[in-house]
Amino acid sequence: MAVPGIFLDSRAKNRHNILMQVKKPVNVRRRDVLERIRAQVDRYKSPLVQHIRENNDVLVCGNTEVFLASSFGFCDGVKRAIEIAHAACDMFAGKRIWLIGEIIHNPVVNARLDAMGLLHLPFRTDDPAYDALIEEDVVIIPAFGVPVKLRKKLEDKGVQLVDSTCGNVMKVWTRVRSYARAGITSIIHGKAKHEESMATASHSMGDDGLGNYLVIFSEAEARMLVDYLSGKGNREEFMAHFASACSPGFDPDIHLQEIGMANQTTMLKSETAHIQQMLRAAVVERDGDDARFHVFDTICGATQDRQNALFELLEKPLDAMFIIGGYNSSNTTHLAHIAARRLPTFFVKSADCLLNLHEIKAYDLSAREERTVQLPGEVADPDRVWRIGITAGASCPDNVIEEVLRRLSELRGFPLPLV
Ligand code: SF4
Repeated sequence: MAVPGIFLDSRAKNRHNILMQVKKPVNVRRRDVLERIRAQVDRYKSPLVQHIRENNDVLVCGNTEVFLASSFGFCDGVKRAIEIAHAACDMFAGKRIWLIGEIIHNPVVNARLDAMGLLHLPFRTDDPAYDALIEEDVVIIPAFGVPVKLRKKLEDKGVQLVDSTCGNVMKVWTRVRSYARAGITSIIHGKAKHEESMATASHSMGDDGLGNYLVIFSEAEARMLVDYLSGKGNREEFMAHFASACSPGFDPDIHLQEIGMANQTTMLKSETAHIQQMLRAAVVERDGDDARFHVFDTICGATQDRQNALFELLEKPLDAMFIIGGYNSSNTTHLAHIAARRLPTFFVKSADCLLNLHEIKAYDLSAREERTVQLPGEVADPDRVWRIGITAGASCPDNVIEEVLRRLSELRGFPLPLV
C-alpha cells in the first residue's frame, strides 16, 4: 500500500514542476521592436565623431589638433546589450523590468536606462531582493553574464529572462567548462570582483560544481602562483591572499597539478601574454614539460583593437591624451594605464569633468578615485598649438565623445565644423 504522505508529496512536486516550467529567455531584438526603439539608440551616435572618422580620424581647428584612435567606443557586444535593454523596456512596457547590476559600465548609458524606469537587482546570488521577484517580472541579464547559481535562482523563480550576455564572454565559459570536465583547474586572469570574472569563475566549476578555479589579477599575484608551483610558496600565506579568489575547497597542493588559463575578455593583452609565459615556464620547471599547462587567449577582438589603435595613436607627437569612459570599465581603465605611461593623460567620464581652462576632474589610477587636477598651461593659451589624442572604452557612446569635444571647443574658443 502506498504511503499517503509520500504519494501526495510526489504529486505536489509534479504539479509544482509543471507550473514552474523554466521560461526560455525571450528574443527582444525583433525587427518591429528594433524599429520602434531606433531613435532611442541613435541618440548614442554622433555626426561630429562620424565626420572625424571619415576624415582620417583628424580634426584641426585653429591651434587645436584632435587625433582620434582608429578604433574606439562601442563594441558590438555593448551595442547589442544596450539594444536589448531598450527593446525589453519597449516589449514589456507596464511590467516590472529589473536589471542585474549595470547593463555595461558607462554612467551616461546607465542613467538613461534608469530614467526609463528600470529597477535594479544587486549582482549578488544571495541577496534577499531576489526572494521578492514574482513570475510576472522581467529580468535583464547584463553583458557580463551572471554566475550559474544566480541564473538558476532566476529560473526557479519563473521570471521572464532577457539575456544580453556577450557571445565573447560565453566563449570563455565554454573553455573553462571544458577544463572542468578534464579535471583541469582554471586560472582566470581578471578581477575577482568584476561581474564577468565572477560569472566565468562559476562556470569553471563545471556541470557537477566540483571544478576548481583561482583568479589572479596582476603580475605580482602571478609571481605568487609561480612561487607556489615552484615549491617556494607558503601555503597559509597563499590561501590567506587568495581566500576570496578561489573555488570553495580549493587546495593549492592538490588543485595546481594541471592548470588551464583563461582571462576576463577586457584585460591588457601584453600583461596576459606575460602571465601566460610566467606560468608556462613554472610548469615546465616543475614537470620538465608543459603537458599540464593549457592556455586559451580569451581577450576579445574589440578590446585588442582598441589597445592596438591606442598604441598607434601614441606614436604621434601629442601633448595630452583624453580617455573617455566609465571609471569602473575594465577595458577603459587599461587604455588609461597604457596612455599614462607615455604622456599626460586625463581619464574622464563625461564633458562636465572639464571644469575650466585650468582644472579638470579626472580618474586617478593610483588613488582609484576621481580628483580635480590641473590642465597643462598650453590649454589656456590660445596662441599655443595643442595636440590631443582621444580614445574611448568599448562601453562609451560617441555622443559622450562629442560632448567632450564641444566642451573643449567652448573653453578654448575654437570652432567645430558644422555637420
Ligand atoms: S568588450 Fe568584448 S566581451 Fe565585452 S561586450 Fe564588448 S565584445 Fe563583448
